[in-house]
Amino acid sequence: MLTVEEHTSLKDSNTFGIDCRAAKVVTVSDRSDIAQFYARGLLNGKHLVLGGGSNVLLPDSYSGTAILMRNKGLRVLSDTDGKVEVEVEAGEVWDSFVKHCVASGWHGLENLVAIPGTVGAAAVGNIGAYGAEVSEVITKVTAFDKDSGSWLQLDNQSCDFAYRDSLFKHREFIVGSVTFCLSRTYEPNTSYSAVASIVERLGHTPTATEMVAAIEETRWSKLPRPEEKGSAGSFFKNPVVAAEKYEQLKAQYPDMVAFPVAEGYKLAAGWLIDRAGWKGRTLGRCGVYEKQALVLVNHGGCTGEEVRLLAKEVAGDVCRKYGVTLEPETIFVEE
Ligand SMILES: Cc1cc2nc3c(=O)[nH]c(=O)nc-3n(C[C@H](O)[C@H](O)[C@H](O)COP(=O)(O)OP(=O)(O)OC[C@H]3O[C@@H](n4cnc5c(N)ncnc54)[C@H](O)[C@@H]3O)c2cc1C
Repeated sequence: MLTVEEHTSLKDSNTFGIDCRAAKVVTVSDRSDIAQFYARGLLNGKHLVLGGGSNVLLPDSYSGTAILMRNKGLRVLSDTDGKVEVEVEAGEVWDSFVKHCVASGWHGLENLVAIPGTVGAAAVGNIGAYGAEVSEVITKVTAFDKDSGSWLQLDNQSCDFAYRDSLFKHREFIVGSVTFCLSRTYEPNTSYSAVASIVERLGHTPTATEMVAAIEETRWSKLPRPEEKGSAGSFFKNPVVAAEKYEQLKAQYPDMVAFPVAEGYKLAAGWLIDRAGWKGRTLGRCGVYEKQALVLVNHGGCTGEEVRLLAKEVAGDVCRKYGVTLEPETIFVEE
């Protein structure tokens, strides 16, 4: 049955804790609800698909329909030759799924533990952390095409996965389920230096359970837990600059953090914001997190507009001081 809630707050549906009033809210409890919404014309009007709301900055009111993805379930498609193929509904909580995999002896997602949000959005944003990206283990995505009103099955290549990007950010699709191919054997992914340090600290090759616990502890020592302080994680992308610009900045700031990439150098946005003097600073009811300058936080009761203003101030100051443009990683939702 299609239940439409009207003039409803999305405060508990976004990790920033913005008290956004949506004109209408509907919930997807089963994948088949999406076709029903389409048939009822709901997907023709202004709408916003929301998983856990952990990568969005909501406005203070939203004039369209918020569609909350809450479809749950997991199905093992095959379990042979040391590989497990598992299809997971988009509304499943990502972190719970990762922990379920570890407990089941299915490996490949350990480094992505404790990322807030849902399984569907993990594919949309191609989440990544500690040297791993989710697209490395996705084999298939089932998506509803809002243009044609039909379901599609896309293999990994057709999803156009890139750094924090996929086809689903650019096309009118709703992700219904994601299929992963996981391994029955655990091989720690230590490509990232922070993970290599964890292994060194433990003094032995960690089990999957140990790795997950260590990564979780490391993550929450640097990031605010959504239940304690509102945020959307890293607010800005790490900017990429040409080699010439990098050399100029490096000469001026020898301790600047940067990594070579194909197009030039990727600068650590957190370093730039910190050096510009913003770490721990407060503007009204929001501010820059005191332990990680890349994270903007809600100190309590702040509005979406306040966060937008803070983001503008921070980016403007970094641009004035370093001549580098910061772009938000967080998705700004318009009223
Ligand atoms: C404390 C904290 C730490 C974080 N750490 C990381 C990290 O280490 N790495 C990382 O990559 N991200 C990180 N994030 C960002 C965020 O957790 C991820 O981007 C997550 O995948 C978002 O999931 P969500 O369900 O909350 O998506 P939402 O915020 O609800 O949605 C994000 C976007 O995806 C769209 N969307 C959501 N579900 C669907 C669907 N089923 N079909 C189509 N479109 C959909 C939405 O419309 C929106 O555009 C962090 C966030 C927080 C708050």
